[in-house]
Amino acid sequence: MAYTITSQCISCNRCLSTCPTNAIKVTDGKHWIDSTLCTNCVGSAYSVPQCVAGCPTFDGCIPQPNDYWESWFITYNRLVGKLTKKQDYWERWFDTYSQKFAGVLQSQRDHNLTLTSTPAN
Ligand code: SF4
Ligand code: SF4
Repeated sequence: MAYTITSQCISCNRCLSTCPTNAIKVTDGKHWIDSTLCTNCVGSAYSVPQCVAGCPTFDGCIPQPNDYWESWFITYNRLVGKLTKKQDYWERWFDTYSQKFAGVLQSQRDHNLTLTSTPAN
């Protein structure tokens, strides 16, 4: 999956110099990514896609979806991220939920232990 440039691009040209494979091109003032050159920054010295990391807009550079559901989730996550101003919305949601769930499980275990260790009258 390559990355793509959206209509949110403000043509700041930052990604032109940050892309390690020179995959970002400009045609008639419009920026686009040559998918045959984009490596998703995998195998480069960077751990995150540089076009995304350096883009001053929230979603000027996004992963190019392969199919309908991938596209749906990318759009959904972008919108949720925009609304909540958090790009890691689902990770945070999952962390919070799993912590709460672990807490409930622990208190149930404690409760069961108390019941089994209390002598019957
Ligand atoms: S993901 Fe990396 S290789 Fe691909 S266009 Fe962005 S900066 Fe270039
Ligand atoms: S860094 Fe973002 S806004 Fe700037 S040219 Fe690239 S995609 Fe467009």
